[in-house]
Amino acid sequence: MNSRLLTNQWQRLPKDAVRQLQVTKLRRYLRDVVVPFSAFYREMFKTRGLSAESFRCVEDLEQLPLTSKADLVNTPEHPQRTKDFLLIPDEGILTRRASTIFRALIRGRKAVKRGFEREFRPIFMTSTTGRSADPVPFLYTQHDLNVLGTAGERLMLVCAARTDFRLVNMFPYAPHLAFWQTHYASTAFGIFTVGTGGGKVLGTDGNLRLIHKIQPDVLIGMPTFLYHVLQHAVEQGMRCTNLKRLVLGGEKAAEGIRRKLRSLAEKLGSPDVDVLATYGFTEAKMAWAECPYPEETGPSGYHLYPDLGIVEVVDPKTGLVLPEGMPGEIVFTPLEARGSVVLRYRTGDLIEGGLVYEPCPHCGRTLPRLLGKISRSSEFKSMQLDKIKGTLVDFNQLETVLDDAPSVIAWQLEIRKANDDPMELDELILHVRKNPGASEDKVTRELNSRLLERIEIRPNRIVFHDADEMSDLLGIGRLLKEQKVVDNRPKKTSDASSPSNLTTTVDSSSLSSSEGERASARKQPVTTDEQPS
Ligand SMILES: [Zn+2]
Repeated sequence: MNSRLLTNQWQRLPKDAVRQLQVTKLRRYLRDVVVPFSAFYREMFKTRGLSAESFRCVEDLEQLPLTSKADLVNTPEHPQRTKDFLLIPDEGILTRRASTIFRALIRGRKAVKRGFEREFRPIFMTSTTGRSADPVPFLYTQHDLNVLGTAGERLMLVCAARTDFRLVNMFPYAPHLAFWQTHYASTAFGIFTVGTGGGKVLGTDGNLRLIHKIQPDVLIGMPTFLYHVLQHAVEQGMRCTNLKRLVLGGEKAAEGIRRKLRSLAEKLGSPDVDVLATYGFTEAKMAWAECPYPEETGPSGYHLYPDLGIVEVVDPKTGLVLPEGMPGEIVFTPLEARGSVVLRYRTGDLIEGGLVYEPCPHCGRTLPRLLGKISRSSEFKSMQLDKIKGTLVDFNQLETVLDDAPSVIAWQLEIRKANDDPMELDELILHVRKNPGASEDKVTRELNSRLLERIEIRPNRIVFHDADEMSDLLGIGRLLKEQKVVDNRPKKTSDASSPSNLTTTVDSSSLSSSEGERASARKQPVTTDEQPS
């Protein structure tokens, strides 16, 4: 089959053709790129007696083990772990290839050499957000940046953006995928874009001034930050009548926050806004989006690019691949990546509706889609929210209840021990900024009964805050991600020293409130990007 078909027709091939073309591309990618130039996979293929030819259908991917974030983190035995996953080309192998000799004859040796440099030399980096112990760096070559642009251009197409739109990129300026995916998407698509750098660089007022001046059609950023800025815009009586899309990324976009964002946009004079979510992660080096959908029916999932990577959904416990449409954990294998390459990367993200192939009911594209809500099992674990006050708590459910509460503008959940004594009972404190129209008594009653009914838990107290106090608590303009849950329970020393709990310990420290007294009690320092200034 024509090797360009999958790329040229990425959005209109039926399932069988997609999977057939994907495995053909996978074989070539393994044979020419990964196995010869990745130290890690060369070794793995050798030990397991595998070759590129062992992969005859997508299901054959199961011959490769899953790789998780823990495998990428440096350890005393593997101090250069991330380097093992970097493609380092062998000049001897490259120059002996017929295609190289042919190109050298046509275009000259120098051009061929330059071509290999653009393909293999790392020139750019993003890293994981630093909520985990060690932010894992992922390297890009010029080839990867081109792919990032292609992915971004498609993201714009899926969101039904137009080149005459004006866009404000409100993701934090940092070496993280969200900001750079947006940047490369804009340049590849050819749309006017201004990056504010989020709240840390320009502050809330700076973002508002820019929005007022530019009158954008599209705002893209983290849901809580967009919400915070638009809430201020409404309070200041600002008009912003051009808004057509609010595109969310970097954290989960619950239905409640989408509804609140639509309502804020309406108050600003933009009643017909599409609120669309994106999904991506460092290790994929790309992000995917939802297409515009009627509010009544809900979104039709994240539209994947089948020529750039293979997505599988596996049982999080057994690691076995699940059939189409079954909920499970998202696993990603790139088909075009150079620089850092990880095959079958397990994200720790659970997708409710699984992977589906039927044509999108809204835009009609035929491509694989990830359907339904995504919840991060890793986040859930790292926050130690599995047991609060002795009750098993479904964090996703809890978040939904609070996001959906109409009288709540912003919230933060704090878990602590009574009197800061590790032996004492857990205390759950809910910090709330309420709608000015609702009384404190009414909001307290409403939240207590909703939480008790839905997750069988009741906060010890609800503390009300004004706008400034709440922004400060959430770390808006100070942290890269707003802290919606803060675990201030003191750590037991025995826990902290056990290696199996190390990630957990560090995770909860970077999530916890920023007071110095608490940070000092913890084993590992919080990562730089989340440290209080
Ligand atoms: Zn669609």
